[in-house]
Amino acid sequence: MPMIVAAKAGRCTAAACGGRIRKGEMCWYETAKGTRHVEAACRDAAAGIRPNRRAAPCARCGRRVPAGEGNLKVREVRRRKTYTVTCAPVCAG
Ligand SMILES: [Zn+2]
Ligand SMILES: [Zn+2]
Repeated sequence: MPMIVAAKAGRCTAAACGGRIRKGEMCWYETAKGTRHVEAACRDAAAGIRPNRRAAPCARCGRRVPAGEGNLKVREVRRRKTYTVTCAPVCAG
């Protein structure tokens, strides 16, 4: 099971949650989902906002999204991770 101890504070990426995850707390981590609370309600929820750690251009409108203000999607294809950042909560472009 992909349970880890959070190395740093973050936020739960479940759509209905978005609550804080404290450093040192047990959390759930999957590449495609990000960090979530270990409760099944969060684990199995649809993807919500996952803040981007670095500034990047929005994949849809091309606007520059500052770190922590966008929504990050990670996909893993043949062991290669692709990161897509879009404006949060929804891209207006
Ligand atoms: Zn949660
Ligand atoms: Zn955008």
